[in-house]
Amino acid sequence: MITLPTRSKLDPLERYGLDVLLDLSRCPEVDDAGTGVVRFEITEADPGVADVGKCAARRWHIERGDGVVRVPRPVLRRLGEIATGAAEQRSTARDRHGRVPSTENVLVQQNLVAEPVVARAAAELRDAVIASAGRRAVTLVAPWPDGRRWAAAITHDLDVIDRWPVFTALRIAELAGKGEVRRVARTLGSAFAAVSRNPVQRALHALLEDERARGIVSSWFVLCGTPTLQTMRAGDLTYLPEGRGAAAALRALRERGCEINLHGSFVTSEHHEVFAEQRRRLAGLVQQPVLGVRQHFLRLRPGITSLGMAGAGFRYDTSWGFPDRNGFRLGVGDVIPAWDGAGERALELQEAPVIWMDRALSKYARVEDPNAWIAEGLSLARTCRDVAGLWVGVWHPNLTAALGFPDAPAAFAKLLDGLVAEEPFMAPLGRLVEWRVARRGVRVRGILPDGRPDAYTTAPTATHDTLTLEEPSGARRYSIQATPR
Ligand SMILES: [Zn+2]
Repeated sequence: MITLPTRSKLDPLERYGLDVLLDLSRCPEVDDAGTGVVRFEITEADPGVADVGKCAARRWHIERGDGVVRVPRPVLRRLGEIATGAAEQRSTARDRHGRVPSTENVLVQQNLVAEPVVARAAAELRDAVIASAGRRAVTLVAPWPDGRRWAAAITHDLDVIDRWPVFTALRIAELAGKGEVRRVARTLGSAFAAVSRNPVQRALHALLEDERARGIVSSWFVLCGTPTLQTMRAGDLTYLPEGRGAAAALRALRERGCEINLHGSFVTSEHHEVFAEQRRRLAGLVQQPVLGVRQHFLRLRPGITSLGMAGAGFRYDTSWGFPDRNGFRLGVGDVIPAWDGAGERALELQEAPVIWMDRALSKYARVEDPNAWIAEGLSLARTCRDVAGLWVGVWHPNLTAALGFPDAPAAFAKLLDGLVAEEPFMAPLGRLVEWRVARRGVRVRGILPDGRPDAYTTAPTATHDTLTLEEPSGARRYSIQATPR
């Protein structure tokens, strides 16, 4: 628990940096400043914050005192820049898919993509609060429900349903170009064997079965526009959501209780009215509200696409991953508010960045062994566990032998086993986002006569009963009330 100075002196990006830092530190704010808890102060010192690695090595210049911690204002701004993708929001560079190239990202430039630097800064703050407390009370918010210390979400983009032999042909051309002769031969063998058996639907059912066997419920992102020759050629919209193949897939997902979200087609990233249209169309098909969205090819215009998503009524986005590498594009594996750079404000829309994607290594780094993809995914998952964060992984259900990916389904099962072994809290992404927003709203009124913190959450939520406070040692835990008195 900490007391804070007024935020009014800070500009919007500094305030955002402060809010994310506090949220990820899990140190709840105390309403009654007279309480004997650690004070948080902001200083005007300017230690130089351009070099992110140096900041991290110097513990983000967070000073420890007797009952006080001090953070320089430029540190808050720097953390705000990283967590909002500020440089990418300003960039005018585009790759061949109309995306801002990964090289515009400050963590890519400084070789820090494998490090959740913002989450590490928050851990430094937490350590500083504990070290500065003396005899003052220190209580933290527990990171995830059920006593779990980190979280993981399995997500899938449904890119291929109909016309699968076309995708086989494209993939064979890709493999042949890389000299992967044996994988080409195995693909051809599987494809010929599969001609009359619909390998896409079979792969989807096998994958759902792998998840069911481990008690995992996944989140899906489904394309929901009408394909044309042009969209098909571009690898954009390739199936009709009302078609027989898609209808069968959606039925299977609903039967399993999976969360069904929109996979925004290319045009949505700039033409926002199409977002609302696709969202409505999908909600009609699945007879339930569509909460989440992820852009196909992760094609988004930083900041601008988020505004469109918020305007169309989405609760969360999960597009801020790198298409061509794995890691922490916003310096966090977690849920943070999306940022409108032009309007300088946080949006109601929440962002849960993609940390790892099956094809990132294959498509861009020419690594074709699925076991290597999985090893990187699990390594990043362990990093998320270290910072009590959220790992969001993307697995494409069309990665099956007949479509050019022998060994991939077995690797997927291995990934699930590796994740489960580290005991994350696993749930559909929308549920994790809602819970995380409720955790962010935890406040403490003061300390009760018996020493217990008097805590509540400002977020209206049905999941408050799973929110808890804990002492840093883990020795005692306290429950939290639903609403402020
Ligand atoms: Zn896609």
